Amino acid sequence: MNSIKIFSPATVANVSCGYDAMGFSMEALGDEMIFTKTKEKSVIISKIEGADLPFEANKNVVGVVAQHMLNDSKADFGLDIQIFKKFKPGSGLGSSAASASGTAFAINTLLNGKYSNLELTKFAMQGEVTACGSAIADNVAAAIYGGFILVRSYEPLDIIGIPTPSKLVATVIHPQIEIKTEAARKVVPQNIPVKTAISQWANVGGLVSGLYAEDFDLIGRSLVDLVAEPNRKKLIPYFDEVKEAAISNGALGAGISGSGPSIFALSKGKQTANKVAEAMNTVYKNSGIDYSIYVSNISKAGARII
Ligand code: ADP
Repeated sequence: MNSIKIFSPATVANVSCGYDAMGFSMEALGDEMIFTKTKEKSVIISKIEGADLPFEANKNVVGVVAQHMLNDSKADFGLDIQIFKKFKPGSGLGSSAASASGTAFAINTLLNGKYSNLELTKFAMQGEVTACGSAIADNVAAAIYGGFILVRSYEPLDIIGIPTPSKLVATVIHPQIEIKTEAARKVVPQNIPVKTAISQWANVGGLVSGLYAEDFDLIGRSLVDLVAEPNRKKLIPYFDEVKEAAISNGALGAGISGSGPSIFALSKGKQTANKVAEAMNTVYKNSGIDYSIYVSNISKAGARII
């Protein structure tokens, strides 16, 4: 195989109670990329459509991950890479993670599946270092494994894939305002009372069991975040209104996607998820803020060949 075209999904990290530990991947939203082997052993990004991103391989997460993998595998080829971004960087939907994970997946395919998903996650995390300064795993792991994931531990890295009920559908609104990841991190307290921690880990347990048991009410009851959301929501215009509109229109729960500004809701079934999208639209349509709304199944597989 000399050339492949891949899709790599957008991802929702945190998922309310799972702050910095959980994520899931979107079926219908993500980057596309074409990887072509070259004789020259270098990494060239020859096309970027849909976003204003650096072409220099050491500044673009795609180039960073590619170079790490070519070095590690001592590959006897280089790469020409074309990137087609389908959603905006800085949305809180794992834009850099989609690029980084898609790159890891594509190169692994060109190397005939040399690496495990855990190893691919580690390569993709190098891209996150370039994008945001730290090797965060939740978005990249969700984009590689697909479905829901839990980052159980960083040292050693331990990623748990969690079965996802096929009826679970995500609705996401992306208000096009800028929130710096650094600003979003700063508002989250460094210390929390044990009482708060107990509620948070009890909800993570509830969410994971709800996903396994396909218990939609339990999933809904567990989508509570007492750590990041109370502090971060003030950075997102109409957050409370969107959450309230989503839940009163049938969503199981809603919260901030990653570090925002996107807001996600989870519903049982497409029909409810579409109704939730309409309700979100009603909140934002006169806001004067540009926004996009997506309704998507949660993908069972992560990055894939198209
Ligand atoms: P979000 O997760 O909020 O969508 P990211 O955390 O992914 O956004 O951050 C995007 C940052 O990563 C931007 O500063 C962008 O310039 C940088 N970046 C570098 N390469 C890429 C790439 N290929 N795709 C997306 N963002 C990239």
